[in-house]
Amino acid sequence: MNTHKAHCLILPYPVQGHINPMLQFSKRLQSKRVKITIAPTKSFLKNMKELPTSVSIEAISDGYDDDGINQAKTYESYLARFKKVGSDTLAQLIKKLAKSGCHVNCIVYDPFLPWAVEVAKQFGLISAAFFTQNCVVDNIYYHAHKGVIDWMSKIYPIKTIGPTIPSMYLDKRLHDDKEYGLSMFKPMTNECLNWLNHQPISSVLYVSFGSLAKLGSEQMEELAWGLKNSNKSFLWVVRSTEEPKLPNNFIEELTSEKGLVVSWCPQLQVLEHESIGCFLTHCGWNSTLEAISLGVPMVAMPQWSDQPTNAKLVKDVWEIGVRAKQDEKGIVRREVIEECIKLVMEEDKGKLIRENAKKWKEIARNVVDEGGSSDKNIEEFVSKLMTISSK
Ligand code: UDP
Repeated sequence: MNTHKAHCLILPYPVQGHINPMLQFSKRLQSKRVKITIAPTKSFLKNMKELPTSVSIEAISDGYDDDGINQAKTYESYLARFKKVGSDTLAQLIKKLAKSGCHVNCIVYDPFLPWAVEVAKQFGLISAAFFTQNCVVDNIYYHAHKGVIDWMSKIYPIKTIGPTIPSMYLDKRLHDDKEYGLSMFKPMTNECLNWLNHQPISSVLYVSFGSLAKLGSEQMEELAWGLKNSNKSFLWVVRSTEEPKLPNNFIEELTSEKGLVVSWCPQLQVLEHESIGCFLTHCGWNSTLEAISLGVPMVAMPQWSDQPTNAKLVKDVWEIGVRAKQDEKGIVRREVIEECIKLVMEEDKGKLIRENAKKWKEIARNVVDEGGSSDKNIEEFVSKLMTISSK
């Protein structure tokens, strides 16, 4: 029996940091009886180590089915081909779903794929843009940019939702929602948790630059010595493609009391662990939201894109971290890194930052819980969807 109220086709841009929030939004919609089909690209799905079981998955094509963007000559040529082949394969998918009796009512698309609107129009469907990075979609961001968002909402119907992290780390209302479910890398879960279980409470610095950022060799070396000199135990995620940039014998000489270097970790479980006292982060939007939601203070070391803005919010607006400043060559030096870590983890100065982090954790949980602003906005989105779908 068909019990769903409407059917949303979710169209993410195929990178981890964009897919995670859309997937979480999907799960929330699904819990309100909206059928979800998520359609990443074939090449993205090919490289997945884990797939979510809770939503239907289909694929479209970006025109580079073997290796996605890595096959394209330039970013511009990638986007151009994605637009052409993506529009065609999206249209085919909509027809296929209709044929199987599963008519789509709405396309929720990543604004990196604006052509989805044209495809939606061809089929008389409604479309909704989902801003994944630090844009209007997130409640936490809304707190920081209320004026701008209120102004924009006079022009477009805008709703803020989130933080988009799995429910079991926030309101715990979706019992099987413990993981994002889609992962490009295989986490070294046992190694990380076993090691963390042996560390004292709030004693460990967690270090990660997410799934995309590439540090230069000089920066990598400064970071390595900054971590060592801080005299804190650290868990450092160094993706295998980044590992050659570590100083010679760095891993070999690292004792297990001092630190652990892994190629990928279960970040949510790590941030939730009682031994974690601070997160040295590139301030990717997901990482920032995860740290906020789990009450972990931060040392911000932004690299590009929205990360400098996120770092500013962390330091100046929410006051839940410090920013490690670059020198005139654009490098954050080891002394600066050491000082920032100590400031957040040790000193009196860091007390307010640590207290604020706890405060924001509470706010994050409340907004997604029943009756919170995110929950209400999702309800409103669903009722609008139903009204339009039933016309
Ligand atoms: N992540 C993870 N394990 C790691 C490092 C990162 O699971 O070892 C996840 C992290 O929880 C986040 C995502 O990868 O959900 C990274 O997204 P973010 O927006 O922070 O950064 P990006 O990778 O887009 O630069």
